[in-house]
Amino acid sequence: MPDFDSWVADRTRGFDSSGIRRMFDLAAKLEDPINLSIGQPDFDVPETIKAELIQAIEDGKNGYTATQGVPVLRDKIQAQTDQQFGHDDRVAFVCSGTSGGLFLAVLAMINSGDEVIYFDPYFAMYPAMVEMAGGKSVAISTYPDFKLDVNKVEAAITDKTKMIILNSPSNPTGICPSDEEIKAIAELAHKKGICLVSDEIYSKFTYDRPHVSAAKFNPDTVVVDGFSKSYAMTGLRCGYVSAPQTLVQTMLKIQQYTFVCSPQPVQWAAAVAMDVDMSQYVANYKAKRDRLIDGLKDDYEIVKPGGAFYVYPKLPWGNGQQFVDEAIANNLMVIPGNIFSDSDSHFRISYAVDDAVIERGIETLCKIARNPPAGV
Ligand code: PMP
Repeated sequence: MPDFDSWVADRTRGFDSSGIRRMFDLAAKLEDPINLSIGQPDFDVPETIKAELIQAIEDGKNGYTATQGVPVLRDKIQAQTDQQFGHDDRVAFVCSGTSGGLFLAVLAMINSGDEVIYFDPYFAMYPAMVEMAGGKSVAISTYPDFKLDVNKVEAAITDKTKMIILNSPSNPTGICPSDEEIKAIAELAHKKGICLVSDEIYSKFTYDRPHVSAAKFNPDTVVVDGFSKSYAMTGLRCGYVSAPQTLVQTMLKIQQYTFVCSPQPVQWAAAVAMDVDMSQYVANYKAKRDRLIDGLKDDYEIVKPGGAFYVYPKLPWGNGQQFVDEAIANNLMVIPGNIFSDSDSHFRISYAVDDAVIERGIETLCKIARNPPAGV
């Protein structure tokens, strides 16, 4: 038998996904768990979107599309982008989920040894995709208040720095940086001639003030967004990117030879989704955030999140593994912070669940905080 391990490419060795897998393996053994670990909305795709998806399939719209997307969707995204930013050189295209767009951006721009700055805590995909492209991850800590410190970014910039990735609202913290914080980072990237990639997948989920895109302050920004979270379409794989023309041409060249296109029926459904009002769903999520924060405030240290559907409390005792083990012993699922961070000091709660589950979660989390296991 060949040594299959020796077949595995070096570029895959610098990251792994075993932490998340271990979590889900453990959880699979639980019966009716209080599951606060899921990174997707608990509501279903709205009916009109589903109807269009089914209709598109029935109508035989099942083949390849142009890699940049069907005109009915791409043109609509372009019009929205033009209206939002009014940039002369900003072209939109459709991709296979936000993940697809992020990956294309990194593949299109990162040479071996290039440095990519992002903020810790971070979406777990960032270091992995940078590694896959042969780049070097430079994580900038935002603990304890999760504010973006432009001075720290400036200090981290070297002649190898090629890209900064910003994510607002953030996974896993739910934090929406202030306009000033975003402006400072955007202007720094512009001044230094560094590519800024803005992951705005949670842009619809903001609760205290409207979402602000980094592209408002830096016309060169690569903006990546998608339908996964906004319309509960995570399994349908549709996202979009807008960026300067030269970068888009390169990303499309890569997309043509990798993901090819987002599934055609999904693209037709996404075009309909853009006209669906999601404000009631967002209002419900705001109420869930408030319910959860209120329930945990006496037992956990939390920086109040302004968006997404996550809360990122400090561990009340012990390390992430000990805490998650205790949570699982109490039939509760949360994600340890070291999945999203170089620090092992926090954990992520997703409140994209029924209110009754949030209530059970609060009760169990408060009990766990007050009762550290012996020896911790
Ligand atoms: N960016 C962030 C910050 C995310 O949390 C996620 C999904 N968890 C993605 C990108 C990827 O989303 P998609 O399903 O559109 O690929």
